[in-house]
Amino acid sequence: MAQIYCIANQKGGVGKTTTTVNLAAGLAKIGQRVLMVDLDPQGNATMGSGVDKRAMELSVYDVLLESASIAEAATVPDKLKEAGAPYAVLGANRDLAGAEVELVGEERRERRLKDALAPVQADYDFVLIDCPPSLSMLTLNGLCAAQGVIVPMQCEYFALEGLADLANTIKQVHAHLNRDLRLIGLLRVMFDPRITLQQQVSDQLKAHYGDKVFDTLIPRNVRLAEAPSYGLPGVVFDPSAKGSKAFLAFAEEMVARGLRD
Ligand code: ADP
Ligand code: MG
Repeated sequence: MAQIYCIANQKGGVGKTTTTVNLAAGLAKIGQRVLMVDLDPQGNATMGSGVDKRAMELSVYDVLLESASIAEAATVPDKLKEAGAPYAVLGANRDLAGAEVELVGEERRERRLKDALAPVQADYDFVLIDCPPSLSMLTLNGLCAAQGVIVPMQCEYFALEGLADLANTIKQVHAHLNRDLRLIGLLRVMFDPRITLQQQVSDQLKAHYGDKVFDTLIPRNVRLAEAPSYGLPGVVFDPSAKGSKAFLAFAEEMVARGLRD
């Protein structure tokens, strides 16, 4: 059965999409069967995995509206196959923004993704869901479908405050919609050890959250930021870059954690 994780943080630009595509590629590289679900109408994770969001025939929109199955709508991009990091992509584009409105009044509207994943659970080891930066019906679909949330965060002054909001959201969803949901861990991203404040916030995080903080640290690394313009995760675009090596280490940490839990 697949381990299903949401990559979520209500803030934008914190590294959710970068984490999703690089973790997907890292896991694929070490032989895991991975499905990446893009739940953000911006479609950045889709483009960053080598799928043209404007040319897709079927997307996560069709899946949420029950006009296609995941087996029909997900594809493994050729570029990822050639690079030895083949993961399946259930893509998103601007159509998805309309789903929110179209689902109003529908039954089980926050459980559409969960229902759609049920028949493909055995086909994957990991399902990674890239969430939009808000608590929308789309994010709720992600949180209802997942057993855990991975939270990428920058070690900045307000980071801890934002985290309290997110922890509260997870608690609410756990209480009312999905008893399986829990916070898996906090991933420190775009980390620069030369900045004293980042080191301090990182220490505070460890003090408050203990082993909920992943061991792996993702450094700030320009190669990770360049990769999306080539339609590839950094792990594939430049495997030797510092940031790519860190994401590969994170993939290994996730596999080890799965065996432990
Ligand atoms: P989100 O999905 O949370 O909005 P993104 O993953 O799109 O965040 O990241 C925001 C920006 O930061 C992007 O331009 C991305 O390329 C860049 N970025 C993310 N992680 C790193 C990193 N470790 N080093 C350098 N740039 C990064
Ligand atoms: Mg994003």
